[in-house]
Amino acid sequence: MNSDTPAQHFDISIVGGGMVGAAIALALSQAGLTVALIEKQAPIEFEADSVPDLRVSSINLASEAWLTKLGAWQLLQTMRLCPYQRLQAFEHPASIVTFDAAEVKNSHLGHIVENNLLQLALWQQFCTRVSRFCPDSVIALNQSADGACLTLDSGAQLNSALVIAADGGNSQLRQLAGIGTNGWQYQQACLVALVTTPYPQQNVTWQQFTPTGPKAFLPLPGQQGNIVWYDDASRIKQLAALTPEQLTLELLKVFPPQLGKVEVVNSSWFPLARMDANRYYSGRVVLAGDAAHTINPLAGQGVNLGFADGKLLTELIINAYQQQQDIGSQTLFSTYQRKRKPANLLMMSTMDGFYQLFGNDIPPLRKLRQLALTIASRSSALKTIVTHFAVGAK
Ligand SMILES: Cc1cc2nc3c(=O)[nH]c(=O)nc-3n(C[C@H](O)[C@H](O)[C@H](O)COP(=O)(O)OP(=O)(O)OC[C@H]3O[C@@H](n4cnc5c(N)ncnc54)[C@H](O)[C@@H]3O)c2cc1C
Repeated sequence: MNSDTPAQHFDISIVGGGMVGAAIALALSQAGLTVALIEKQAPIEFEADSVPDLRVSSINLASEAWLTKLGAWQLLQTMRLCPYQRLQAFEHPASIVTFDAAEVKNSHLGHIVENNLLQLALWQQFCTRVSRFCPDSVIALNQSADGACLTLDSGAQLNSALVIAADGGNSQLRQLAGIGTNGWQYQQACLVALVTTPYPQQNVTWQQFTPTGPKAFLPLPGQQGNIVWYDDASRIKQLAALTPEQLTLELLKVFPPQLGKVEVVNSSWFPLARMDANRYYSGRVVLAGDAAHTINPLAGQGVNLGFADGKLLTELIINAYQQQQDIGSQTLFSTYQRKRKPANLLMMSTMDGFYQLFGNDIPPLRKLRQLALTIASRSSALKTIVTHFAVGAK
């Protein structure tokens, strides 16, 4: 395409077709809006015998309910995912606090899903109202009082009433819209590894808190699992350079006995950052998911917060569309920001509290966290509250 190519018109443009952007595109298109979805890289097709994606997420009941309404969850169930009924937290393997699905009268607390497959299930539900620009990316953003124009790398020009930035933590659109951020890089990083386990498919996810950082296990279908090892960033980089056989030996030295004699298949590592956009919109650009906030993955909440953003934002837009009002109005965006920013900040700060309380060996804090875990293990009321929190209930 060249610069003479006529501009194309859509109700909404979405930059980033990851889990959050794709769910938003699906919800809006199902309500009758036309959507341009710009994404750098399409999800990989599913093959039943493929090695699971290293990037997995724990999806809570609130997110599952929205994804079911959108019709993507049913498709994901025909691919690969693993439900879990119990969530365990402990410092010493002898004193485990267990949160059970029975506490919230449900068959499960959540599912571990592969990010790529969830994204794929959403993409496979798109109707013709979603026009994909993929692989493509944005080179320019121009805003006017009643709309925005995106120029893509391919030369395409897209006009729409608003642009949703769902292009992740390093959001280019957020920068083009001039929205600044607050945040920091944590001293810890995390290593994730796909492992085979000697046990049949497990229904429990657990996390051991140690002074150098948590060690977690997330079950996957069959005799597989995903481990997450948080530690000082320099230690994580050393571990990431090991062969699978060497890493297996290190894991078996450090992880608690309930892991069993696992074997590492492959691994990768991630830096950990906290980021909070100063505002969630500017002009006709509005942020959602990791483009608006990134959170310590300690309690597996990042994409669940992103889905909560997406659900509210799409409800507000669809409502305005049905009332024939401006779908990109500042009133709409400020309602969205007012409702989502405090909720996301609260979750971030809660995770930072956990990070500080459990990620050190200072004697008074050691006593405090032992006390916290003991109280949690003995109080069924507290356990029910924490379980409600974990599943994403209000
Ligand atoms: C180790 C780890 C474990 C985690 N575990 C959990 C968990 O258990 N539960 C949970 O809820 N969350 C978890 N998270 C967080 C979760 O992965 C993120 O919150 C989630 O991926 C955010 O989704 P998103 O769609 O907003 O952004 P992303 O997943 O970052 O997707 C952004 C999309 O935009 C595309 N893109 C980027 N830039 C451009 C561009 N310029 N043009 C076009 N396209 C672009 C990318 O290709 C990508 O597809 C974890 C994170 C980490 C690091």
